[in-house]
Amino acid sequence: MINRTENMWWATAHPAPPTPALETASTSDVVIIGGGIMGTSAAVRLAASGTQVVVLEAGRIGSGASSTPGGFVVPHFSVGSPREIVARTGEHGSALVRLVGHSADNLFSRVRELGLDCDARQDGWYHPATRAALPRLERTRTEWTDAGFACDLLDAHETTVRTGVEGYQAAWFAPSGGTVHPLRLCQELARAAREKGARVHEHSPVQSITRVPGGYRVDTARGCIKAAKVLVCTNGLAGELVPPLARTLIPMRVWQCASAPIPAEQRRHLFQGGECLSDTRHNLFTYRFDVAGRLITGTFDAFGVDGARAARGMAARLRTMLRLPELPQIPYVWTGTSSISADRLPISLVVDGGILAASSCNARGIALSFAVGEALADHARGAPLPDFPVLDTNKRTTASIQSKLARFYAHFTPLLDWYEERRARNR
Ligand SMILES: Cc1cc2nc3c(=O)[nH]c(=O)nc-3n(C[C@H](O)[C@H](O)[C@H](O)COP(=O)(O)OP(=O)(O)OC[C@H]3O[C@@H](n4cnc5c(N)ncnc54)[C@H](O)[C@@H]3O)c2cc1C
Repeated sequence: MINRTENMWWATAHPAPPTPALETASTSDVVIIGGGIMGTSAAVRLAASGTQVVVLEAGRIGSGASSTPGGFVVPHFSVGSPREIVARTGEHGSALVRLVGHSADNLFSRVRELGLDCDARQDGWYHPATRAALPRLERTRTEWTDAGFACDLLDAHETTVRTGVEGYQAAWFAPSGGTVHPLRLCQELARAAREKGARVHEHSPVQSITRVPGGYRVDTARGCIKAAKVLVCTNGLAGELVPPLARTLIPMRVWQCASAPIPAEQRRHLFQGGECLSDTRHNLFTYRFDVAGRLITGTFDAFGVDGARAARGMAARLRTMLRLPELPQIPYVWTGTSSISADRLPISLVVDGGILAASSCNARGIALSFAVGEALADHARGAPLPDFPVLDTNKRTTASIQSKLARFYAHFTPLLDWYEERRARNR
């Protein structure tokens, strides 16, 4: 396990005074539970349309998964190509492909429209491939192009020149991708929602949702709100509120780190703007810089591996992958829990009368959660149900087995990569 030092996003967040906890009984059109990216994007959408909305957040705004990401805004599925997603989700498939394909453009254009100060840079996302992943990369890129989304395929040389990393066979470049400061994104969304009339209560964990005439009563320890619709945007892991959703998710621990600012002359061969990279390996490699030149990277948290060993592994990786003349200091190390759906579909939706709950992650949660929050908000104010696959609760057993195995996944990733590369070489 990694020893946490400090989360860089909190260290560089906007100094936002806490909003008051809920201590009264009142009514609203909609209650949103959870103030992460999904909940705050839904709140802005609702408040902007004149709908009364209250956000109840257990901790501070953004204090869940949304303050832990690398901040990569990625318009792609983490598992599956557009055609595979269509084949698996039938009638919902094309809508999902459109939602995900537009998700980064949607997020960045909303950031511009609302004037959100969150270091957003739409400079593209690179997805470089090893030999084993090359055929899949080429196929997936063709499918996205056929679906109408611009993306380039770079050869090995171009990949090295543009990413600064050697050894990949090719890369797929999605120009609509980019990076944000994820916590500031949440804070700014919450600020924009408040300015448009939303009520936001931090330190207000919801204890129960009860059906009452005309809607639902949502209770915290010291207050309650009655509303016609409830959006549960707790990333699926608040099990007691929507048990079927939580039972189909696999909590996967991931750690991230950020270096001290690296002098420009040492990183001229690496990204210069808001580009980011995540590769095709099981033992995933990711990197980006923030506006101050801090290198941000991370990987799965390996059960039983202490912080010193993990840090040595990461240092070796940075040395070979990024060819930095000297290893930077790493003052920030933090962990987070990602919600992975047992079926690996990008969105899990639960509909129970006027209660809508969704989880949308599988490691592409920034752009997607943002878009899902907006879709839930549109439904709450009268649009048809979003065209998402509704949760298959039979996945419960698989999820509980996968959750036990997930703790050990990181140990096997280098072996899986080695095996697949060997097979690809012998083909
Ligand atoms: C380490 C890590 C790195 C990642 N990197 C990336 C990345 O680079 N790019 C990317 O696209 N995705 C990434 N992800 C995924 C992404 O961060 C998430 O998918 C996204 O932030 C989820 O947003 P959310 O609003 O659904 O959930 P959250 O941010 O978890 O928000 C849920 C909120 O609900 C609140 N809550 C829970 N229970 C209650 C309750 N009972 N009452 C009131 N409030 C409650 C929580 O406090 C929390 O603030 C990463 C995830 C992790 C863990």
